[in-house]
Formats: sequence, structure tokens, C-alpha cells
Amino acid sequence: MRAVIMNGPFDVEVGAWETPKPAPGEVLVSVAASGICAGDMYCYLGKNPYAIYPQICGHEISGTVAELGEGVSGPAPGTPVVVEPFIGCGECYPCRIGKSNCCVNLRIIGVHQPGGYAEYMVAPAELIHVVPAGLSLVHASFAEPVAIGVQACRRGEIGAEDVLVLGSGPIGLAVLEVAQRRGAQVLIADVVRQRLETAAKFGAETVVADEHLLQKVLDRSRGEGFPVIVDATGNIQALESTVDMVASGGRIVVLSLFKQGVRASFPALDLTRKEMTIVGSRASVGCFPEALELMASGAVTYPTIATEFNLWKAPQVFADLAENPAKVQKGVFVR
Ligand SMILES: [Zn+2]
Ligand SMILES: [Zn+2]
Repeated sequence: MRAVIMNGPFDVEVGAWETPKPAPGEVLVSVAASGICAGDMYCYLGKNPYAIYPQICGHEISGTVAELGEGVSGPAPGTPVVVEPFIGCGECYPCRIGKSNCCVNLRIIGVHQPGGYAEYMVAPAELIHVVPAGLSLVHASFAEPVAIGVQACRRGEIGAEDVLVLGSGPIGLAVLEVAQRRGAQVLIADVVRQRLETAAKFGAETVVADEHLLQKVLDRSRGEGFPVIVDATGNIQALESTVDMVASGGRIVVLSLFKQGVRASFPALDLTRKEMTIVGSRASVGCFPEALELMASGAVTYPTIATEFNLWKAPQVFADLAENPAKVQKGVFVR
């Protein structure tokens, strides 16, 4: 089959790769669309510590069922589906308590094994989700990032209340719309004005994240701080500032990823004084059906930010995006 092969950092080509066969319990998917995520860019840029080369990247995958492996009863060939890319071992503690997203032996499709930047890919049958009627395959490929928003809202138990989202990148936007559908009033902060304009289009109140952010947040909340803060910045100062901006009794949801070894520090007394809840939120588990439903019903319109690229132009697209990361809000390869 034809595939986009990542040979190493800054070395990607369109070439031939052996067409996978579905093993027992697996499904072969004919890929329709596959999103471009920061993780894929990091593989290209040589910044993903888990990258294995050569590899077929792409973990935000939609397509149609092409073939069922032994022992798999459906969905029938031709059915539109999305692929949940996280494969837990099923045996470690987090897997045993239903948190396979934090599996200590986690395998990610498109990182540890071939993903969606190809004509075909295989995945375990239990990670295949049928796309609801009315949702296009290109938009359905956003199930993965929208599921991250669902997971963050579940972790933060977000309801009809004020929520501050730090970071208006693709993940901040995914959190924004899911939180709004739960009744939240969302204030979103970012350093980049252009990103805030996009957030405003999705109904967020926006604030520029400058050196006065803390004061603006306190003013906006009658000095109380926000009941819920979601950090999706990847910036350590932003993470540390959440402790100052959260209301007493409030919750902080941390989505940001940091380099191994980076430490955060807080005024320790605030942990008890405010009795705040700080939770991490990693990828998603069990969130794909809700994410697909939110998109199919029109409650989440986030996939409309997508810029489509032809998959077979991937070498040029990666080079362009490496040169100018702000060129598009969110890219998706279609074939
Ligand atoms: Zn992703
Ligand atoms: Zn596990």
C-alpha cells in the first residue's frame, strides 16, 4: 500500500509499506482522514521522545471498515468508523481500574505502531467506533481531540459554572466547546490574539494572558478566583499560576505536557488553605462515543476549523508547518 513514511526527524516520504492484515480480534480500516496533531509534528521535528522510526504516524483516524479479523463480528465492511488510538495492556493497576489511558505499558497507534497516514491501518476491534449518521469522515477524525475535551470536563466535573481555560490551542478549543455544552461560562486566556479571536467565534469570553492576567481573573470573579481552571498551555509558569487564580474549594485540571524532569512549585499552604483539587487529565478513556455524539448533533462545531491537505503531499505539508506552525489552526490529511 501507499503510505507516508517518517524515516527520521525532517525525513518523510511517500512510499510503499506492506499492507497490514487484521490479526484475530483486529479490524482493517481503509483510511479516509487523519488529523495532524502536535505529537505528529514532534515526530517530524525529532522532539517526540517515544518516536520510533521508520513509522507511519497519525492517530486521529477515520475511515471505513475494510476487513474483519478472525473472531470479530462487526461493524460490517464499508461502515464509517473512527479509531481510538490508545491500547492498554489490560493488566497493570491503571488498566485494572478502568484507566487504560494511563497504562504503564501504553501503546499508541501512530506512535508505537503504524497509524493513519496510509491507505490502510489495523486496530483492535474494541477501539473501533461507528460514526453516527450526519457526521462526515473528515470531521469525525476530530473524535480524538474532542474526546480529550470530554475527558478534561469529566475529570474536572465541570458543570454550569465559571471555567477559566488557559491556552487557546487545539486542545483548549476542544475543552471550550465541551464545557459550554455542560452549561459552563468559559473565559479563555492566551498570549496569541489570533487564537483568542478563534475562541471568541466559538462563544468564549477571552482575555489576553499578559503580566496582569491574575488581576484580571480576580476582577472578573469578584476577587474569589475561578471555580475551575483548565491548563492547556504547556507553560510551567501558567500551570503554577493556576493555584493563585483558583477559588477556594475549586478544581484545577492539568492537560499540559512538560518535558521529563520539569518541576512545578506552589505556595504549599494554599493546598490546604484553599482545599483545591488538582487533577491531571491524560488523553481520554471511554470518551469517544460522547465525542462523536457531540459532533454529530452539532453541539460541538470545533472540526470546522480544519484545513484539509492531500495526504500524499505530506512531505511538503510537514516542511511548511515546521517553518510556520501558526499557518493553520488544525490540519487534517485526507486521501
Ligand atoms: Zn492528537
Ligand atoms: Zn496497562
